[in-house]
Amino acid sequence: MDGSEVGFFFFGLRGNLTEMGRQEPPPRLAAEVLAANNHTCCICRVQRKHVQLHHIDGNSSNSVPSNLAVVCLDDHSRVTGDEGLGRRFSPQEVTLFKVRWEAICAQADMDEDDDEDDEPEEPLESVFQTRLIRANEEYAFTFQMEEGQELICSLSADDYIDISICTARDYQRWLDGEDLMEYIGEEDVLHCDLPPFVAPRNGKFVVAIMNNSDEDVDVTVDIAIWAGGDEDEDDGR
Ligand SMILES: [Zn+2]
Repeated sequence: MDGSEVGFFFFGLRGNLTEMGRQEPPPRLAAEVLAANNHTCCICRVQRKHVQLHHIDGNSSNSVPSNLAVVCLDDHSRVTGDEGLGRRFSPQEVTLFKVRWEAICAQADMDEDDDEDDEPEEPLESVFQTRLIRANEEYAFTFQMEEGQELICSLSADDYIDISICTARDYQRWLDGEDLMEYIGEEDVLHCDLPPFVAPRNGKFVVAIMNNSDEDVDVTVDIAIWAGGDEDEDDGR
């Protein structure tokens, strides 16, 4: 095939169309198609390049969404053959690029919406503080929790300590000399992120920190109580 002749043909064709009055898509339709493509070329998907709307079938009066592809200037030459090398992509191929890219953009939009919904979510209650726990003493942070609510706790200390999550009642029993019945616990840690604790029922629960050493210890805790997973599902997602 004689490439230069083909290139000349397409160049000429485009010139004629321009003389005939190349029709631009209505602005609102153009904006919709651009947004559906994240203002990004559906062929190379390189962000922040200048883009144009390309009439896939070559008919500039056929401005329907399915006939409009967002392409960068480089790829516009490739789909129209303006660069003198002939048509690189058939209309069917361009449609395929468009459909695939729009699907990816739509999915990304949905993911972003999810993120936006999640962001304003705040814990029901939170504690962030540093406390001095004297040698051979303990301290308990108490929380009234409802069944299904989650307690997330991380902690760091300047010497080894023990940490437990248990009911307020079991903590009191332990203070009275009984064995500690705990849900989650770590011994001899300087830093830890406890696995999430889900309240098995309504009640008072404590995060107890025990300093079993003969030195005072500074402990910083970051504790947050979050609404349970059921509430998230009720959002309709
Ligand atoms: Zn491109």
